[in-house]
Amino acid sequence: MPPKPSAAGPSQTPEWKQLMRCSLRRGSDVAEFTPEEQADIDRVRRLYPFFSNEYYTGLIQEKDDPIWKQVIPSAEELDAADDYVLDSLGEDGDDSPVKHLTHRYPDRVLFTVTYTCGVYCRFCTRKRKVGKNPVPPWHELEAVFAYLREHTGVRDVLLSGGDPLLLADDQLDRILTELRAIPHIKILRIGTRLPCVLPQRITPELADMLKKHHPLYINTHFNHPRELTPEAARACALLADAGIPLGCQTVLMKGINDDIEIMKELMLGLLDMRVKPYYLYQADLVTGTGHFRTDVQTGIDIVNGLQGHITGFAVPTYIIDAPGGGGKMAVGPNRLLELNDEHAVLENYEGNTFKYPARAPEGTLIQDYV
Ligand SMILES: *Cc1c(COP(=O)(O)O)cnc(C)c1O
Ligand code: SF4
Repeated sequence: MPPKPSAAGPSQTPEWKQLMRCSLRRGSDVAEFTPEEQADIDRVRRLYPFFSNEYYTGLIQEKDDPIWKQVIPSAEELDAADDYVLDSLGEDGDDSPVKHLTHRYPDRVLFTVTYTCGVYCRFCTRKRKVGKNPVPPWHELEAVFAYLREHTGVRDVLLSGGDPLLLADDQLDRILTELRAIPHIKILRIGTRLPCVLPQRITPELADMLKKHHPLYINTHFNHPRELTPEAARACALLADAGIPLGCQTVLMKGINDDIEIMKELMLGLLDMRVKPYYLYQADLVTGTGHFRTDVQTGIDIVNGLQGHITGFAVPTYIIDAPGGGGKMAVGPNRLLELNDEHAVLENYEGNTFKYPARAPEGTLIQDYV
């Protein structure tokens, strides 16, 4: 798709802001669609936000390619299956003690600092919230800080969104400074898709600000090797050079990355950019995203197809986040075929099986296994 001419002239406006200005946002912006399809998109857009910035739109090579599918709405989003709900992970219920905070696990919290994103992903778990709510005003954030000061069991705060890196540097600095002043909070994490969808946002000034708040970790979000561009590599290098450990959370999606060779290329490419694959998510049961969902076996086959075949660092943990707020559970890679009273039966990457004693010494002799 040819990039649309930029309205912004040469000015002081940073490049990333210019890229956010000129973008796809309505059915008639998608020239590849018939008028009927454009009308469908406008129906979708009334339910969920539609916006792709100029950089990410520029990665689209053709209709229905893996970049297109992530950001261009489809009529399938209008299907609402029975087992799908809007707040699939139960983030807004009992686990939200204060507005903008989800406190599900004893030692860590999810803190939504903004509801705006660099693009609106069609598969997003937070489709119900993103792009619809204003940036939380400071007094609401203060209520979150107050809650965190009182809850001394919280040692890890994960800033999420929306995309926290869409906040201005000084605004984010202010939030991080408040959190850093709380003694029991040891690590700060930021979840952001911008190194992938708007890498120009990662500026030397941003990296300099972030590194004042160590230990700070960033988890980014890449789903396809086509997203591993020189711009993305530059953004990750800036963050890594600021001493920020980088992880990646990838969503497994039908027709986008449900393929071992694509995943291998993605995971190895991330490592080359100093990003450690962290989680591979099975799709959540969110209304309007069912067309992306794969079989659970597909995810297991993919991570088993990585573990042992390629550098261990490149292998993410395959996660199912339980519907209704049960939390994240690791389901692979799994090499254990069976565990009985006597032994564990394991299968290696080449498909050969091995036994290992199930019990600690006493009894079984190692010789039985060699
Ligand atoms: C994912 C998540 C976290 C962080 O989980 P980790 O497994 O530690 O990465 C924390 N709180 C909520 C509500 C989450 O969904
Ligand atoms: S960037 Fe993240 S929060 Fe925003 S739409 Fe995409 S997946 Fe959802």
